[in-house]
Amino acid sequence: MFDLTDKTALVTGASRGIGATIARQLAAAGATVVVNYNNSADAASQVVADIEAAGGAAKAVQADVSDFQQASEMIKAIKKELGRLDILVNNAGVTRDNVIALMTETDWDVVIRTNLKSAWNCSKAAARLMMRQRWGRIIYISSVAGVYGNAGQSNYAASKAGMIGLAKSLAKELGPRNVTVNVIAPGFVPTDLTNYLLEDEAMRQGIIEHTAVRRLGRPEDVAALAVYLASEEASFVTGQVIAVDGGLAL
Ligand code: NAP
Repeated sequence: MFDLTDKTALVTGASRGIGATIARQLAAAGATVVVNYNNSADAASQVVADIEAAGGAAKAVQADVSDFQQASEMIKAIKKELGRLDILVNNAGVTRDNVIALMTETDWDVVIRTNLKSAWNCSKAAARLMMRQRWGRIIYISSVAGVYGNAGQSNYAASKAGMIGLAKSLAKELGPRNVTVNVIAPGFVPTDLTNYLLEDEAMRQGIIEHTAVRRLGRPEDVAALAVYLASEEASFVTGQVIAVDGGLAL
């Protein structure tokens, strides 16, 4: 088990799905966790309650991380209240899927802004603190779609590929200050984001058949890697894109 005692973590989009599980697992490893949410206040409060019931420390903070001002102010407030920020997990994300002929400019803008600009917004504010601390971990939750592309997801795949360029650049910039920057590329994990796809039984079976370990992912599969990447033990791992996809992309 990795020990994150005395570390402070921010997980964006932690009210539901993968982000909520990452928040719970970071807290279980000892970190004090800021559970960011945008719309789902009750769900975020439940994540905090679960963490506290398990003996951990957490706080829910509302901010639309696609907004530069809101993202920066949230991180400034974390510094003021908790004294430091050691771990940033850029997890908030949305989809607006369609083939390019039918995809609207709004579909493109919303996805790029929510998935990619949000990650830059938070990374910029966090990097300042982490460089001064001479310790930090920045983790991006990208997707196999960002590595390989996906028909009907040109906006989403571009946003997730953008995270990879952002991460590799920051790994080079921030490495000398002991800040590592890595990317997790999950395969299919049943959540509110993917349930509409996975409700189609043929689609679900097709994905499972193309996955080497013959199952869908679980939020815990992704969270376990996030906890490792956030740990001291991962200090020599930076600029990497690690798939957690059961061999889907092989
Ligand atoms: P989800 O269940 O739909 O949860 C999305 C989370 O993002 C929610 O907590 C939501 O918060 C938050 N969010 C959305 N817009 C936000 C904003 N502007 N500011 C702050 N928070 C915002 O999705 P998920 O499946 O857990 O996905 C989490 C991440 O993993 C995403 O980046 C997704 O692209 C990536 N991913 C997922 C899969 C998969 O199969 N599920 C695969 C590869 C990658 P509110 O509800 O509070 O608004």
